Amino acid sequence: MRLFNSDLPTADPYLPGHGDPSWSAVHYALDLDYDLAGNGLRAEAVIDAVAEEELSRVVLDLAGLDATKVTVDGRAPAKYAARGPRLVVTLKEPLPAGRSFRLTVKYGGAPRPLIDKHHGDAGWEELEDGVIVAGQPHGAPTWFPCNDRPDDKASYSITVTAAADYTVVSNGELAERRRGSSTVTWRYEQVEPMATYLATVQIGRYRLRPYDDAPVPMTAAVPADVDEGFEAAFGRQPEMMAHFVELFGPYPFASYTSVVTADDLEIPLESQALSTFGRNFCSDDWDAIRLVAHELAHQWFGNSVTLARWQDIWLHEGFACYCEWLWSEESGGDSADDWAEHHHAQLAELDQDLVLEDPGPELMFDDRVYKRGALTLHALRRTVGDDAFFALLAAWVAEHTGGSVTTGEFRHFAGEHTGTDLNELFDAWLTRPELPDLPAAT
Ligand SMILES: [Zn+2]
Repeated sequence: MRLFNSDLPTADPYLPGHGDPSWSAVHYALDLDYDLAGNGLRAEAVIDAVAEEELSRVVLDLAGLDATKVTVDGRAPAKYAARGPRLVVTLKEPLPAGRSFRLTVKYGGAPRPLIDKHHGDAGWEELEDGVIVAGQPHGAPTWFPCNDRPDDKASYSITVTAAADYTVVSNGELAERRRGSSTVTWRYEQVEPMATYLATVQIGRYRLRPYDDAPVPMTAAVPADVDEGFEAAFGRQPEMMAHFVELFGPYPFASYTSVVTADDLEIPLESQALSTFGRNFCSDDWDAIRLVAHELAHQWFGNSVTLARWQDIWLHEGFACYCEWLWSEESGGDSADDWAEHHHAQLAELDQDLVLEDPGPELMFDDRVYKRGALTLHALRRTVGDDAFFALLAAWVAEHTGGSVTTGEFRHFAGEHTGTDLNELFDAWLTRPELPDLPAAT
């Protein structure tokens, strides 16, 4: 326990020391000038925000970087100070509840990942020759001052200036690419609301390869020497996209980019409107292909329809895992039913000490959350039948596109939408640790 921070807010108990519920961001305009050779960042963030209650101070998350100038509505605050991974801005006069305000923060330094005792490191990270930003769940403050809570969605404008021989990929649509003497400035606009942890910057010596015949604009950003393994893992993404659109409704963003880094990465990662994979995922192994489907599915389940609290992580990972099984079935592999039986048998052999609707921060990315979450959906599917199940998923997305959700809302929505009393089913799968039997197929 770090006592010196004890009076600073925590928005979500799964991420102590992050986020401030007393204000909300509406728009982040980030302008980053990044020196790849020296890992040096000089940046400015302009944050349009609103006071949720009367504010005498504004607490931001900013880790490992130094704020050098702060203004509130264009004027100097009473003071500002770094306190650990927070930036505390003390106002000259209180802001009343409901008031809009604009924070401007000039900042810089040598960005590096932030280490969390449960989640390891996350955030801005140098590659052999480039940068990735892996924000989930606590990495956003490593590269911009923010209100780091998952329910505080905002639009973003992200501008990055970097050496001209690199490609910069970020969230949303490329709005401008401007050439300087030895640099290029890239500006991306993310108009759909986005949680802080889904904001990202990817820098590398990438070639941009658009997909032909994709149902929405799709691009891969890949190293020049990527080989045929790329086609094996990523070649069928347009079909994946078409299948998920058919099942869940319109793709929630304007485009989708798959970044393949020149480095190997342990796990892939979803960001809004793009995903990042290490080159080790360029393979025809099912374990690579299923994760390509998994990350794409997160665009609906996680990025557009986003948990309001980290304890509801199964609403992301269980759904994305289930989409792996749906793609398997669609692409001629084992059926979702086969996968469900297989993983049910496997889970039955493991400790049953995890409550899916509140696994605790140390277990929130435990593989059992993924598999049991997917099994919960399969149990629901067997209970209500295919037609009602898939209609429910599409309606859930349609109702909550761009929004924030909880497990309680899903339970209520599922019961209402299917006209079925699902309380016993959800209690067994979500609130008790013992693994229930799968219901008999209807
Ligand atoms: Zn996932």
